[in-house]
Amino acid sequence: MTMNNQGRPTRAGDVMTTQTETFTGNKALQIEEALIFETGDFDGTGVDLPEPEGKADRLGGLKRESRIGLPGLSEPETMRHYVRLSQKNYAIDMGPFPLGSCTMKHNPRLNEKLARLPGFADLHPLAPQSAVQGALELIDELAFWLKELTGMPAVAMSPKAGAHGELCGMMAIKAALEARGEIATRIRVLAPESAHGTNPATAVQCGFKVENIPADKTGRVDLAALKEKLGDDVAAIMVTNPNTCGLFERDIRAIADAVHEAGGYFYCDGANFNAIAAKVRPGDLGVDAMHINLHKTFSTPHGGGGPGSGPTVLSEALAPFAPAPFVVRDNGTYHLIESRRAAKAEGEAAASIGRLTAFHGQMGMFVRALAYMLSHGKDGVRQAAEDAVLNANYVLARLKAEMTPAFDGYCMHEALFDDRFLKDTGVETVDFAKAMIDEGYHPMTMYFPLVVHGAMLIEPTESESKGELDQFCDALLSLAKRARAGEADHFRAAPVHAPRRRLDETAAARKPVLRWTPPAAQ
Ligand SMILES: *Cc1c(COP(=O)(O)O)cnc(C)c1O
Repeated sequence: MTMNNQGRPTRAGDVMTTQTETFTGNKALQIEEALIFETGDFDGTGVDLPEPEGKADRLGGLKRESRIGLPGLSEPETMRHYVRLSQKNYAIDMGPFPLGSCTMKHNPRLNEKLARLPGFADLHPLAPQSAVQGALELIDELAFWLKELTGMPAVAMSPKAGAHGELCGMMAIKAALEARGEIATRIRVLAPESAHGTNPATAVQCGFKVENIPADKTGRVDLAALKEKLGDDVAAIMVTNPNTCGLFERDIRAIADAVHEAGGYFYCDGANFNAIAAKVRPGDLGVDAMHINLHKTFSTPHGGGGPGSGPTVLSEALAPFAPAPFVVRDNGTYHLIESRRAAKAEGEAAASIGRLTAFHGQMGMFVRALAYMLSHGKDGVRQAAEDAVLNANYVLARLKAEMTPAFDGYCMHEALFDDRFLKDTGVETVDFAKAMIDEGYHPMTMYFPLVVHGAMLIEPTESESKGELDQFCDALLSLAKRARAGEADHFRAAPVHAPRRRLDETAAARKPVLRWTPPAAQ
């Protein structure tokens, strides 16, 4: 088989040495897909444009003389190429996606249909405000429900992902400290060791020093240890609730009180809001700022399927520092306040941190998230949260038979296991996950959170039926039994049925080969 400079097969081979090798490189319906530049050639293009006649060349001698190397394929070839590419990725539309922390839930088609309405999909971001009143109203209505669900007085709609929402919240905290004249002294941000990597990254980005809050043996924040770390140099704490071990922080009110007493702010990472939506209002817990991942809690497609969106709710204390743009309603007309100066004149967010994004945020995601909320209703959003927790506990209860839960007791929306059940088997978490691929499952989140050895974090969400969960659990139980029966070789070889085996992901990330070189130039 001939390889290109990226190490990918380009042409069929002629010597098959093993039973699983094929002449084409294809394995049944898994088609080896060469780059479009390798299969096509420009003369083979399906489009013939007539030479323009009687038109003077106005390029002033700058006309390109050589070809620029565009690929050329017929229409069916082009279509097949892209359809096959679209099938290379695993997707929530193909099967369960148990990635803990990522909340891969079903994206209802109703939401997709609404987002594609021309009145939303075809808007130009620079259209005059008078022409997009409906879109502004939708942003305002979604903002209303986010404030209602969280019990918070203000929300910044423009952040484009969870991490961006964290930046928004921490910048507001920084601005509030500046206004208090304490920015030079309050330099520490406390975060649990189990925190998502974006938390410390955001704090550092904002110029703070991050310190770990230890966990107690139940996997939650150690309140006494936290209190010891508090002082007048603490700017904020960043705590996820439910936390990244899938557990509700029972002391959350006491944590908030202690931080406020010490003069700090409480940033809550709301990525796990899907477990408590319409059950718990973060505003009642003493939260000052919290991002909501619309793409997790409210089902808007993410990962390969769409962009994120991270509206950030703010407390009374932080609302004056909210970023532009935001929507205000005045006598039935919606206005977009787009700058710090306009915000000041409006008297709302009078000390705004300024613009956080170009334009208004992820409009398509706003439409989908509002459609999700309104089609579920209050009771439906609550039931989605309850079903997500029920499903995770079902998985926990069934897998307990062969696998080792990291902590005792019930979980919230995700079930966390460690690798004790693999002890002395020669199988590691990564091998176990790769063997799941052969069984047709996308692996769960591995090695996160860092506080649990060989962590395996499973989040079924409310999307999965009992039948689907049972098959998933049966597959994992069977793998756990095989690992313990001494079949380490099976696991170390996995995946054997996938088109590629184990990739060197570190090398791929550190030394990506992004440029294809034509064979003649190699
Ligand atoms: C997903 C996630 C984030 C980051 O959100 P993005 O939208 O991916 O930027 C932060 N914290 C936790 C706990 C998460 O699960």
